[in-house]
Amino acid sequence: MNFLEERIMHDGVVKEGNILKVDSFLNHQLDVELFDQMGAEWKKRFEGIEVNKILTIEASGIGIACIVAKHFGVPVVFAKKTQSVNLDGEMYTAEVESFTHKNKNQVIVSKKFLNENDKILIIDDFLANGCALQGLISIINQSGASVSGIGIAIEKGFQTGGQIIRNMGYKLESLAIVESMDPTTGTVEFRGQ
Ligand code: 5GP
Repeated sequence: MNFLEERIMHDGVVKEGNILKVDSFLNHQLDVELFDQMGAEWKKRFEGIEVNKILTIEASGIGIACIVAKHFGVPVVFAKKTQSVNLDGEMYTAEVESFTHKNKNQVIVSKKFLNENDKILIIDDFLANGCALQGLISIINQSGASVSGIGIAIEKGFQTGGQIIRNMGYKLESLAIVESMDPTTGTVEFRGQ
């Protein structure tokens, strides 16, 4: 078991509706030392692959992406979920259905921050059905940039996203892949990597 799987076993809580709660270390209270370990691990897994920018999506992806960016020495761009007066100029947009909130959001990135020369590493906290990732990939495609790889903290392997994204040919590195989980017993099983 790797460091993230151990942490999930220790502090993760399995909820009804295929939800794994990890808010004590990943997406509400944030364990920055853990993020640092995750950054080092992705740096190893994407060794030799050119990356000049990290793209993530607000809100949970931002903290992780910022610590990971220190390992790659690159800036972070995050896709916004709401229009605001601060978003001016031309923008790339994509529609994303939220797994946790069950609604549809437009995700938005200013054209100023992505272009055809960019080699992007996408970072996010969870992969479930893959809608968030497909939205980010769509934005990257619109900009003409290329996807160098995708780093996910926790993939729920029993949902469809991982297979869809791997079938599209992307290098997807999930640090923990949950094979099954049971809300009545609280057990979590991981896919061997
Ligand atoms: P997808 O778009 O792949 O269906 O879902 C990905 C997004 O939904 C993630 O960015 C994450 O915010 C949220 N999400 C999906 N599954 C879970 C889960 O089991 N627990 C938590 N905390 N968030 C999840």
